[in-house]
Amino acid sequence: MMINTPTCDDYDPNSLSVDDALHRIDRDLQPIRGEEQLPIRSALHRVLAEDVLSRINVPPHNNSTMDGYAMHGADLPTQGTVQLNLVGASLAGKPCPVTIQAGQCTRIFTGGVIPAGADTVIMQEHVEVQNNLVTIGTGHQVGQNICAAGDDLAIGTLVLTAGKRLQPADIGLLASLGIPEVKVKRRLRVAFFSTGDELCSIGETPQPGQIYDSNRYTLHSMLTQLGVEPIDMGIIRDNPEDIENAFRLAATRNDAIITSGGVSVGEADYVTDTLRRIGQVNFWKIAMKPGRPLTFGKIQNAVFFGLPGNPVAVMSTFYQFVQVALRRLMGQQPTTPIRMTVPCLSSLKKRPGRIEFQRGILEHDAHGRLVVRSTGKQGSAILSSMSQANCFIILPLEGGDVKAGSDVVVEPFEGLMG
Ligand code: AMP
Ligand code: MG
Repeated sequence: MMINTPTCDDYDPNSLSVDDALHRIDRDLQPIRGEEQLPIRSALHRVLAEDVLSRINVPPHNNSTMDGYAMHGADLPTQGTVQLNLVGASLAGKPCPVTIQAGQCTRIFTGGVIPAGADTVIMQEHVEVQNNLVTIGTGHQVGQNICAAGDDLAIGTLVLTAGKRLQPADIGLLASLGIPEVKVKRRLRVAFFSTGDELCSIGETPQPGQIYDSNRYTLHSMLTQLGVEPIDMGIIRDNPEDIENAFRLAATRNDAIITSGGVSVGEADYVTDTLRRIGQVNFWKIAMKPGRPLTFGKIQNAVFFGLPGNPVAVMSTFYQFVQVALRRLMGQQPTTPIRMTVPCLSSLKKRPGRIEFQRGILEHDAHGRLVVRSTGKQGSAILSSMSQANCFIILPLEGGDVKAGSDVVVEPFEGLMG
């Protein structure tokens, strides 16, 4: 019998590409149905469950964008100056009741309603005032310095679409429309646990051979930042009963389950066996580093993600797959990852055949140009590299080593993690 011996440990011709894995995740997931009505302040970072149309004009009236004088554009002089009689004042919130006739003007302040009869505002710096006479010269245009009713949002405009993750501007926009509450998707419940006999929790004394469990803390933070409800189910030991019980319990109450560790084909990896028995699960070898083994599927109604154990692999697979999947479950519109090409100051080691998510520091050089450099050691266990980094350096599947000075693609953490 012929046995294929891989030429290097990480290369596997049967691996699934990152894009194929994302495509399958997208195909297999449907957004949850549950919705709730929230006061707009509580809706920040939640996913909108309805389209919002403008029922009013914002702003509701024509108003001034400057402190100055409101007048008839027809009175503007074509040469020399003109003198207008000052007949009133319009302050923000205190409109002027007077209708302006030809030859008249009113004082007006920023945000003040344009008085009836006026259609032009002259900045106060451009006039001379003596007693009740305002002198205006040339160089002005009819209609200037006015924000028209509905300029921001006209009645009937589609202001926000279902699936938008609400940002501070959206909350302000809703307030500008006088809308006190909106319908949003309910929060996802996501259970997560770590697997491994070698793990101990903070507060416990590590026994010989034990390490502190960091993945649960990283996962809790990433899930919190994403806006789901994180349910910490602790550490599960490497034994089949505990794993099965934990999976069954997690599946009854949650929309998604995330585990870390135990998905490689090691002796004590019972996660895989348990999943085969009680769920519908795919075991993927993804052509990426860090984070090759990844499990995706369902246990009862809960979506399941089995992430690798190594701390950096947990983060790279979370951001590249789990976050995308959870956003889809939450009903959020797909977002475009922000990636850009910049020169790399470091030389990078890379084997062809897998996409690599190396950790980089994006900064300005002495000429103000954005450049990236490596954080140094790139092992999947080097969690400090993620802490030092502010971006992934994404090296394409087929590429090899990168020479210092070459262009690379980076994905800033800002935006990816917020
Ligand atoms: P595994 O996938 O279970 O074989 O784990 C791969 C590597 O990640 C091993 O060195 C584990 O000790 C380590 N590891 C697994 N889970 C955790 C965790 N929760 N925190 C820190 N390291 C972990
Ligand atoms: Mg393990």
